[in-house]
Amino acid sequence: MDCATYIEKYLSAHVDGELSAAELREAEEHLAGCVNCRARFAEERAVKALLRERAAMRKTPAIVRGSILAALDAVDAAGASKSGTRGSDRSAGADRAPWYSIRRARMWAPVAIAAAAVFVFVILHGVGGPPPAQAIPPFDVAIQHYDTFAQRFEPNVKSTLPADLSDAYIDHNLPGFLWNFRPVGYKLMGGRIDRLADGTSVAYTFYRGDMGTILCTYMKSHGLQPPDGEMQEVGIHHYYEYKGYSICLSYPPRGGFICILVSKRPMKEFIEDIATCES
Ligand SMILES: [Zn+2]
Repeated sequence: MDCATYIEKYLSAHVDGELSAAELREAEEHLAGCVNCRARFAEERAVKALLRERAAMRKTPAIVRGSILAALDAVDAAGASKSGTRGSDRSAGADRAPWYSIRRARMWAPVAIAAAAVFVFVILHGVGGPPPAQAIPPFDVAIQHYDTFAQRFEPNVKSTLPADLSDAYIDHNLPGFLWNFRPVGYKLMGGRIDRLADGTSVAYTFYRGDMGTILCTYMKSHGLQPPDGEMQEVGIHHYYEYKGYSICLSYPPRGGFICILVSKRPMKEFIEDIATCES
């Protein structure tokens, strides 16, 4: 299978768990050997999770919600008109294909368009501008705050509900996807939105559990130069042992941001915890 086939015909149904056993095997085989499609899969899953949360809370900024609803309407209309004509021009033996293409289109297009709407919104409202040369490297920003927050975390987003944090981050031009570490015993303590020296926004999401704390930092990816060596790549995540901390670096769907998770957990357990939360 090539990447185009995977992305057009399989990706969306794969994320939704709708592939047949044979299709799933082919899809997994492709992902096993293709880092790009693995990243697309993770991105698609994150966007769908975000959209589910949005739909549940109905608190999406109006401009984004409008784009998503318009996209869904347009695709529904296209699907309906295709369904209406497909009986007449269908040749024998091609039964499966039209149904598949319509199902894929209906599943894939809204998410693609909605994702574009969400992140165009983020980009249009982004603060932008090149960072000054002396900006503190992202990993150091993250670990400095990790130490401070482990002593005392003062959220400045009023709610501790994931959906409200997500909204607050999006309102500040930051990614809205939140980690859920509950499956491995960490409670979401809340979120903080601050500004870095270069004027761009940064979001800190803090988690506490019996095994310690985790800090998630979202910031613009500009100027990031991860340290050389000591890197382990697991799926779409890059793990670093950095100055005595376990760090997971990843890229939220589009938008030019990085997600830095910092913990004091031994690296092996940290990687396992994250894998558990993503499964
Ligand atoms: Zn591929």
